[in-house]
Amino acid sequence: MNIHEYQAKRLFGRFGIPVPAGEVATTPAEARAVAERIGGRVVVKAQVLTGGRGKAGGVKLADGPEAVEARAREILGMDIKGHTVHQVLVDPAVAIASEIYLAAVLDRGQRRTTIMTSRQGGVDIEEVAATDPSAIKRVTIDPLVGLQPFHGRRLAYGIGLGGAQAGQFGRIVAQLYQAYQSLDATLAEINPLVVLADGTLMALDGKVNLDDSALFRQPELEALRDPGEETEAERMAREAGLNYVDLDGSIGCLVNGAGLAMATMDVTQLCGGSPANFLDIGGGAQADKVETAMRIILRDPRVKSVLVNIFGGITRGDEVARGILAALGNIDTDVPFVVRIVGTNAAEARAILAGADMRTAPTLYEAAQMAVAAAAGR
Ligand code: GDP
Ligand code: MN
Repeated sequence: MNIHEYQAKRLFGRFGIPVPAGEVATTPAEARAVAERIGGRVVVKAQVLTGGRGKAGGVKLADGPEAVEARAREILGMDIKGHTVHQVLVDPAVAIASEIYLAAVLDRGQRRTTIMTSRQGGVDIEEVAATDPSAIKRVTIDPLVGLQPFHGRRLAYGIGLGGAQAGQFGRIVAQLYQAYQSLDATLAEINPLVVLADGTLMALDGKVNLDDSALFRQPELEALRDPGEETEAERMAREAGLNYVDLDGSIGCLVNGAGLAMATMDVTQLCGGSPANFLDIGGGAQADKVETAMRIILRDPRVKSVLVNIFGGITRGDEVARGILAALGNIDTDVPFVVRIVGTNAAEARAILAGADMRTAPTLYEAAQMAVAAAAGR
C-alpha cells in the first residue's frame, strides 16, 4: 500500500526528520486559508499516489493568498498519470541550495535493507542510475547488527558532505531507517532532501510504500488508505484476500498460486493471446472466494474468455468447480470458460463440470489455446 506525501512527511516528522509544517486542502478556498495561516510564500502540491508531479505541473510556488487560490484551482481536478487530484498540500516554501536523494529500500537482491543516497536529488533515481550510477552511494544493513553511526558517515562523506552537515545527515539516515522499520515499510524515500541556505537539511518530499503483509499489525497505517486511489476491482480483491493485478489483455485468468498465475500468463501469450489480469486465488480457496474472483474478472468488459488453471494441492478441485458453477448461476454472462484442473479431487471436479456446458482441457497448453481461440471469435 502507498500513502500520500503529506502522510509520509507527517510520519517522518514523528521520527525527528525536519519537514515543512504544511496542511492539506480539498478546495481552493481551503488552500487560501492554509496559506494565510502560514504566511509568505508557499508551495501548492498535488496529492496523488504517483511520482513526477513536479514535471506534470502538480507542484507550484505561490506568493500571497490570491495566487495560492488560483494555483490550487489549477491543480485540484488535474489528471496526473491517470490519477485525479482531490487534495493539495500547502507547505511553506523554502529557498533551496541543492537537492539530495535519500531512501531506505527493501533490497531483494541483497535480502536486506539498503540505504541509498545521491547528490542528484529532485530527479528520478532511475534516471541517475542509468546516466551516472557512480553518483549513487549505498550501504546495506545487517538486520542483526542494525544501522551503525559509521553507515551514516560513509553515506555523508560518499556524497561530499562534511562537518555539522554530515552530522545532521547521519541523524536523518538513522531516523529514516527507524521509520522504515517501525512502519513495516518496503520503501521510505526523501526526494528531495534539500540543503537550505544556512546549510541545514529538510525533507521536502516523502514517499512510503508499506508491506501489505504487515498491515494487520499496523492499524493506524491501514487507516491512511485512500479509497479514491483504489479501483472497485482492487477493493473487492483486497477484501476477499485475492492477489489481483489488472492488465490490458482479453483473456481473464483465474489461477491458484502466484508462480502458476505467471506461467499461465506466459503460456497465454505463447498461444497468441494477452492476459486481462493476474489473479491468484491463493491456497485452499473455497467456493465463495472463487465466485468473487469470477465476479472481478467478468466486471472487465475487455474480457473475451476466461482461462481457469488450477493445480490442486491444498486447493481442492471440486471446491473450485463448485465455485465456478455457483458463480455462473449468479452472474449473467456469455463469456466462454475454459477450465483445466489437475491434482487434488480433479476427477470430482471434472464430474461436476461435465454436467455444465463447460470446456475443459487436460493440459495448460491446450487450455490456453482453447481460451485464445474462444476469445478471437468474439
Ligand atoms: P515530485 O515531482 O512528485 O517528486 O514532487 P516533489 O515534492 O519532489 O517536488 C518537485 C520539485 O519541486 C522539487 O524537487 C523541488 O525542486 C521543487 N519544490 C518543492 N517544494 C519547494 C519549495 O518549497 N521551494 C522551492 N524553491 N522548490 C520546491
Ligand atoms: Mn520528489
